[in-house]
Amino acid sequence: MTTAQVVDLDLTGRTALVTGAGSGIGRACAERLAAAGAHVVVVDIDERAAKEVADATGGRAIAADLSDLDAVDALPSEVDVLVNNAGLQVVAPLTEFPADKYTLIQKVMAEAPFRLIRLVLPHMYERGWGRIVNISSVHGLVASPFKAAYVSAKHAVQGLSKVTALEGATHGVTSNCINPGFVRTPLVDKQIADQAAVHGIAESEVISKILLDRAAIKELVEPAEVAELLAYLCSPPARLITGASLTIDCGWTAH
Ligand code: NAP
Repeated sequence: MTTAQVVDLDLTGRTALVTGAGSGIGRACAERLAAAGAHVVVVDIDERAAKEVADATGGRAIAADLSDLDAVDALPSEVDVLVNNAGLQVVAPLTEFPADKYTLIQKVMAEAPFRLIRLVLPHMYERGWGRIVNISSVHGLVASPFKAAYVSAKHAVQGLSKVTALEGATHGVTSNCINPGFVRTPLVDKQIADQAAVHGIAESEVISKILLDRAAIKELVEPAEVAELLAYLCSPPARLITGASLTIDCGWTAH
């Protein structure tokens, strides 16, 4: 499915940095911001994927592992739109949850966003304008079993985003979370086998019985639909939306 770019957004002269932009939602966000005229810094652990997206968007690729917090501190600071998007999932019961994976997920999904926000805010404050969009999740608002690290990190980002909104308010900087339900990306594809194993069902049943169990509309969200919400948050009519958590979850959290 293709999603029309309906938001009137002009980011000419602005620089955007998108983490995890080599794939899925991050790639769609990089493409959308570039279509609005931004110069996009495409950050991903996968150097080849980052380069491919940078080539396609006329941007700059930087290969970085966001669990290396020194590497995060070394990323460009002159950024007007920051999209904290990179993420990964590990599915396991708490009694067996690997501690090293828990730490990795907190670093990539909670600590790296803090480091990046701290890094770019001085430039945004200097210019009197900035947009920080954190790609959180319904799992930043509610929990699911077997996702202790992911749910914890996504809840942490909600708090970080609200503090950023309060501190940035007098500097023209907004900070918001986008909370998707399940989106058609490689991250979801990778979970299907794991979910089938922990729930003891066939992989074919995972999408309808597990992934979309809580969704009122039984569809996966498309990455471009998330990117269009990002575009709206960067557009002039959204200037007073800050500290918010916007869901795009097919009604999941309406329960
Ligand atoms: P994706 O297709 O797997 O893309 C995530 C990207 O982040 C990948 O390119 C991945 O690289 C990269 N990445 C992973 N670990 C990294 C690290 N340590 N340093 C730098 N880059 C790293 O996933 P997605 O579904 O688009 O997810 C993007 C964001 O949306 C995540 O924060 C996710 O939690 C959130 N989200 C997704 C869904 C969904 O249903 N898909 C729903 C709600 C929220 P590799 O592929 O090489 O690992």
